[in-house]
Amino acid sequence: MKHIYNFSAGPATLPQKALEVMQHELLNYNHSGMSVLELSHRSKTYDTIHNEAKENLRNLLSLNQDQEILFIQGGASLQFTMVPMNLGKAGLPAYYVDGGTWGSRALEEGKLVLGELAVCLSSSKDKNYTTLPSLKNMPTTGAYIHITSNNTIEGTMHTTFPKTKIPLIVDMSSNILSVDIDYNQFDLIYAGAQKNLGPSGVTLVIIKKALLDSIDKVLPSMLDYRIYQKSNSLFNTPPTFSIYALNEVLKWVKGLGGVQEMDKRARQKALLLYDTLDKSKLFKTPVKGKDRSLTNIPFFTHSDTLNDEFLAQANEMGLINLKGHRLVGGMRASIYNAMPLEGVMALSDFIKQFEKEHKRYVQD
Ligand SMILES: *Cc1c(COP(=O)(O)O)cnc(C)c1O
Repeated sequence: MKHIYNFSAGPATLPQKALEVMQHELLNYNHSGMSVLELSHRSKTYDTIHNEAKENLRNLLSLNQDQEILFIQGGASLQFTMVPMNLGKAGLPAYYVDGGTWGSRALEEGKLVLGELAVCLSSSKDKNYTTLPSLKNMPTTGAYIHITSNNTIEGTMHTTFPKTKIPLIVDMSSNILSVDIDYNQFDLIYAGAQKNLGPSGVTLVIIKKALLDSIDKVLPSMLDYRIYQKSNSLFNTPPTFSIYALNEVLKWVKGLGGVQEMDKRARQKALLLYDTLDKSKLFKTPVKGKDRSLTNIPFFTHSDTLNDEFLAQANEMGLINLKGHRLVGGMRASIYNAMPLEGVMALSDFIKQFEKEHKRYVQD
């Protein structure tokens, strides 16, 4: 079989090593005589996996003891709803930083729950989201501030976050575990697993105990963070296989040296690709300088026909899922933790080769 490098934004490529472990264990998990897919979520064997995944997350992200780790279903999109449901406060505005499609989706859902109380704090929509919105002038009163750390579709990323007087909520779906930052500076982090953490089906929520304790309303059980905390995310059947696979990915990250090493590799890969694109006369990147994402890199030529040709040839070469999001067009390379440097080198070489063969299309 030809080697495939999968640049999908999510569900995304998984570490080959972790997949091999899962394949090896699939029919008989840890001498249980059963597949991990068949284990009761109330069994001791599953409980060990569940708690090990939490412990690995705590260690890898250096989370303090005042942080609770929850496993929830419904994707990051359900968090757009659960955050305002749980953390909205009567009479207090909830602020949203709109840095891209996902951030503006979060705001729209916030409005469905909180009405006029969900407000846009800053936005880079007028720049087509090719730059980051401002994080200056943070409000000192309010229910919370919501930020998207990495704008998956547009390819921008916040590297620093403001110290805020009100709870800081961050959607880290597309760069959690790729950046070596202080994960305790946030009051709530959420991330759909299918980008950088594992397969789809589980969403990670990390929430400070103090914030949990501040929730003061009656909510449907399945939408109430407190129920997940009290039940160790076992109120009902959790996505057991997704959590097992997440743990295998975490073990792989740990084996390589943790978040510090992931951050180093992310920089190396992103630098290589940005360097190739910056030197190119045919390809352009919409995002410049310090706002650039390390995990999602959009690029394009001046012509849709040429973009399509590039995508078709890349596909032939085994460089797949490079088509940009339908809202942005062109190409996008998602290079999360599990994308090896070799994959980015192959893409970079192909970009150069394609340009050589299409010199006549270069516009000055
Ligand atoms: C992919 C993505 C989402 C949506 O995730 P789902 O799990 O599909 O709901 C939300 N926010 C960001 C930043 C994303 O990258």
